[in-house]
Amino acid sequence: MQLSDNFGRKFYYLRLSITDVCNFKCEYCLPDGYQHKSKACFLSVNEIRRTVEAFAKVGTQKVRITGGEPGLRKDLPQIIRAIKNIDGIKKIAMTTNGYNLAKHAQAWKDAGLNQINISVDSLTPHLFNKITGVNRFDDVMRGIDKALEVGFDKIKLNSVLIKEFNDNELQQFLAFIKDRNIEMRFIELMECGETSQFFNQHHLSGDGIKTFLQAQGWVQQLRAKDDGPAQVYSHHNYQGSLGLIQPYAKDFCETCNRLRVSALGKMHLCLFGEAGVEIRDLIQEDTQQDALIERLHQAVQTKEVSHYLQQGNTGATPHLASIGG
Ligand code: SAM
Ligand code: SF4
Repeated sequence: MQLSDNFGRKFYYLRLSITDVCNFKCEYCLPDGYQHKSKACFLSVNEIRRTVEAFAKVGTQKVRITGGEPGLRKDLPQIIRAIKNIDGIKKIAMTTNGYNLAKHAQAWKDAGLNQINISVDSLTPHLFNKITGVNRFDDVMRGIDKALEVGFDKIKLNSVLIKEFNDNELQQFLAFIKDRNIEMRFIELMECGETSQFFNQHHLSGDGIKTFLQAQGWVQQLRAKDDGPAQVYSHHNYQGSLGLIQPYAKDFCETCNRLRVSALGKMHLCLFGEAGVEIRDLIQEDTQQDALIERLHQAVQTKEVSHYLQQGNTGATPHLASIGG
C-alpha cells in the first residue's frame, strides 16, 4: 500500500543519507568542518538495501543518495548497484560537492546512477573557496565537465543564495547554462540550529530572481510526481534550465512527496522539527520487512502539515549534513 499521510500527501521519493562525514566546510553548513564523533557507524550496503526494498514496496520510485559527502564512501558503487537492482526503483540520483566527481563519474554511472546534483555556490573561484572553506573550485569544474561527458540523464547544479557572497552572480550562472544541458537551481538559505547567526546575516529571498525570470520570458514547467521541490523555468534561448527552491514560501510543504533516512538509520518525516523514527533495528534481517513497513505507515501518520520554518523552527536539525540535505 502506498505511503501517504493524513494530509493526502503521497511519498514517492526517498532521500537517503549514507554518511554524516564531509571534507568541505561550507559557511552555512559545517563552518568548522565535520567533527568526528566516536565510532559513528553508518548504514552498511545490506542495511541500505533492506531500507530501500521496504520503501519501494510502499511506493518509493526515486532515491537520492546524499550526506555529508556521499563521494567519501569507498563502497558507493556497491550502494548504487544494490539500490538499482530493487524492483520499483526507477531513478537513482545523488547530491555531491563534486570533489572527486571527475575521477568517479563513469564508475558511478556504470553502477546505475541516473542523475547527479553538484553543489556550486559560486562560479568565481575565490568566492567558491571562501564559501566552502576549501580550494576545490577547479576539481568541481572538472567534475561538471566529466558528468556532461559521461551523459547522466540529468545534471543539476545547486547554489545556495547567500547575501554578500554570491548575490550578484545570476548573469554568470545564466551564461554557464546557455549552452550546457544543466538545470541550475538556486536554494534559499535555511535556518539550522548551529548556523542561526549566519542565516540572520545572509538569508536572501529568491523572489528577485523569480521576478527577473518572468520579465525575461522564462516559462515555468510542470512538476512530475517524483520531482523535488524546485519551481523550474526554461527559455528558448537557453539549453539549460533554472530552478528555484523557496522553503519559506507559504505553500512549500503542500507538495511534499519525500521522506528521509539518516546515515544512522533514522527515518525523518521532514528536514526540520523532529527527532526521527528509529528503523535500524528493523533492517538487520530480510525477514523484518513487514515489521518495517508497518512502522513506516505508522510514522507517516505523525507527519506535520508544515515545517514551521517561518516561525523560526529549526527543530532538532543542527545542520543539513546531519540529516542529508
Ligand atoms: N555534501 C553534498 C553537497 O554539498 O552537495 C550533499 C549534502 S548537502 C547537505 C546537500 C545540499 O544542501 C547542498 O546543495 C547544500 O548546498 C545544501 N544545504 C546545506 N545546508 C543548507 C542550508 N542551511 N540551507 C540551504 N541549503 C543548504
Ligand atoms: Fe559538506 Fe555539503 Fe555541508 Fe558543504 S553543504 S559542508 S559539502 S555536507
